[in-house]
Amino acid sequence: MMYGPGDVRVEDRPDPAIHKRTDAIIRLTATCVCGSDLWPYRGQDQVDGPAPMGHEYAGVVEEIGSEVTTVKPGDFVIGSFFASDNTCEICRAGYQSSCIHREPIGAIGTQAEMARIPLADGTLVATPGTPDAGLVPSFLAASDVLGTGWFAAVAAGAGPGKTVAVVGDGAVGLLGVLAAAQLGAERIIALSRHEPRQQLALQYGATDIVTERGDQGVARIKELTNGYGAHSIIEAVGTQESMMQAIRSARPGGHVGYVGVAHDVALPGDELFFSAVHLHGGPAPVRRFLPELIDLIWQRTIDPGKVFDLKLPLDDAAAAYQAMDERRAIKALLQP
Ligand SMILES: [Zn+2]
Repeated sequence: MMYGPGDVRVEDRPDPAIHKRTDAIIRLTATCVCGSDLWPYRGQDQVDGPAPMGHEYAGVVEEIGSEVTTVKPGDFVIGSFFASDNTCEICRAGYQSSCIHREPIGAIGTQAEMARIPLADGTLVATPGTPDAGLVPSFLAASDVLGTGWFAAVAAGAGPGKTVAVVGDGAVGLLGVLAAAQLGAERIIALSRHEPRQQLALQYGATDIVTERGDQGVARIKELTNGYGAHSIIEAVGTQESMMQAIRSARPGGHVGYVGVAHDVALPGDELFFSAVHLHGGPAPVRRFLPELIDLIWQRTIDPGKVFDLKLPLDDAAAAYQAMDERRAIKALLQP
C-alpha cells in the first residue's frame, strides 16, 4: 500500500473474492515494481493513500467465476495492466488496453499474495504448463515491460533493414531493444549512460550505444545514420525531453513508438509539422502480444527476465521501491 510519496507499507488485507461471474482469483507467483509506480512514489502523481499498488502479475488461478471458460484453477497465467474483454471492436483491432470495458489492474493492486482479475477470459493467458522457476521472471516481464517494449517496437515500425533508436534505458527501453532485435531490425542504437544497462542492451541486441542526450544525442544518431536520423524510435521515458529526443532523432517519414507514460509533454505543432514523423503509442495493448510472447519465452528463445536485477520478498516492497527510485536496480521482482 502506498500511503504517500516515499511511504510504502506491507500490511494484511482481506483476501479477494469473486465479485462478478467473469472474475478470477489468482495467487501471485511473482510481482514487481514498475517504473510508472515511481511517479506517485516521487510525488509527481497524486497519491490518494493508502492505495493498493502493482499492476504486473504472473501466478496460478485459484478460483473462477461461473462464466469463466478459458482458464481454470491450477493454470499458470499472465495478464496485463488493463483487464479487457478481448471481444469488443477495439480489442479485436488489437487495442485491448483501450477496451470499452477495460478495468485498471493498478486499482486492485497486484503487489500482493492474491488478486482478483476482472474479465478473466479476455485478460488472462495460460502458459502451456507450469513453468520452471527460472522462467517465472520472464513471464512476469511479459505482463508489462516486455509487452510494452514490444508494442513500442511495433509502433515504431522496427523490422528488417531498419535502424531503431531507443530512448530510455529502463526495463521497457531494454526490452524494446530485445523486441527490435526479434523483429529483425538491422541496427539498434541504445541511448544509455549506465554501464550495467548498456551491457544488458548489448546482450539484447543493441549494435551501438549513445551516451549523449539532447541536441548532442540527436547529432550522434544522425552521424550514425548518414545524416538521415533513425527509421524507428522507441520512446520509453515520458518526459518532454525524451519525447523531443525521439522526434528529433527520427528521419522524415520515420516512426516514433511512444510508451513512456507522458508527464507534462507538450509538442510544438510547428516542429511536429515539419518533422514529417509518424507518432503512435499510448498504454501498450500487451494482451495483443501475450500469446506470441508466452511462446517465445516457453521455447526459451528470449530471456526478458534478465531486467530483474533485484529480487526481494514481498515483505520488503518498500526497499524495492527505494532501490528503483535511486536507480540502484533496473527492476525489482517481489516474491509473495
Ligand atoms: Zn474490449
